[in-house]
Amino acid sequence: MADPAECTIKVMCRFRPLNNSEVARGDKYIPKFTGEDQVSISGKPFMFDRVFGSNTTQEQMYKASAQMIVKDVLEGYNGTIFAFGQTSSGKTHTMEGSLHDPDNMGIIPRIVQDIFNYIYSMDENLEFHIKVWTTTSVFLLYSSLSVTKNNLSVHEDKNRVPYVKGCTERFVCSPEEVMDTIDEGKANRHVAVTNMNEHSSRSHSIFQINVKQENTATEQKLSGKLYLVDLAGSEKVCLMCYMNSFQPVYTTYVPYRDSKMTRILQDSLGGNCRTTMVICCSPSSYNEAETKSTLMFGQRAK
Ligand code: ADP
Ligand code: MG
Repeated sequence: MADPAECTIKVMCRFRPLNNSEVARGDKYIPKFTGEDQVSISGKPFMFDRVFGSNTTQEQMYKASAQMIVKDVLEGYNGTIFAFGQTSSGKTHTMEGSLHDPDNMGIIPRIVQDIFNYIYSMDENLEFHIKVWTTTSVFLLYSSLSVTKNNLSVHEDKNRVPYVKGCTERFVCSPEEVMDTIDEGKANRHVAVTNMNEHSSRSHSIFQINVKQENTATEQKLSGKLYLVDLAGSEKVCLMCYMNSFQPVYTTYVPYRDSKMTRILQDSLGGNCRTTMVICCSPSSYNEAETKSTLMFGQRAK
């Protein structure tokens, strides 16, 4: 459990495998791993809380980087997970993966599943209100579930969710429905945005899940919020802009630029939180310079 008085920041690093075109081009696989927390590029070592090689599974990644944050959120703490790295380094694969394939699901679908599993496993008198909001979907999802001894009931939220510009409200009551609606929302976005890959490399994509619970017997209330952020490709946004975004981690200085990210950070870092940054890297010799600057950024965030 996170200590309410302090924020913890963990920085992890994940290398994807070489892809077919890199192999065809004759690129070399450059990272050298030492133990669980160090990777070297051309002899230069970089240390992180954890380093994950190219054969790391989605499940291993989830267990090491996200599962404890879910536990905290259910205990009323806030958390943030960022993926940082150049375009095509594996950020979306890590955060999202495939939403419907159990082996290849990324962090987001696994978190949604874990939250629902937790609710299904409860046998106290609890009421849950879950709200999901994402920049990649046109839907705002919410869910109200009541648990009484050995009985789970689903009901429409009485407290109507506040209106969010550009979003349509959707009521959901299972992880599958969350994933289906996200897919549907993305399909709509694809129509609206001409080049989705170009768009996602230039903009941050944010997934927020808010879990409120109330014990109807004791009236004890808990509220936890989780931000899952797939940052814009690191080659597309200047390093200073990122540094400005992360500044509030260390000081109360509010940067003028990138203020949306700053607000998110301040919210999730306000008082009780757990933050994990996943630095995503290409293993190819072709990307060596970009990979080194990504790793350097990750070390500065520590
Ligand atoms: P980004 O979001 O950083 O631009 P993606 O997550 O879209 O990058 O990854 C680029 C490509 O590499 C995708 O086709 C993805 O499936 C693949 N990929 C990324 N990471 C891995 C991995 N760890 N294992 C297997 N394939 C991966
Ligand atoms: Mg992406």
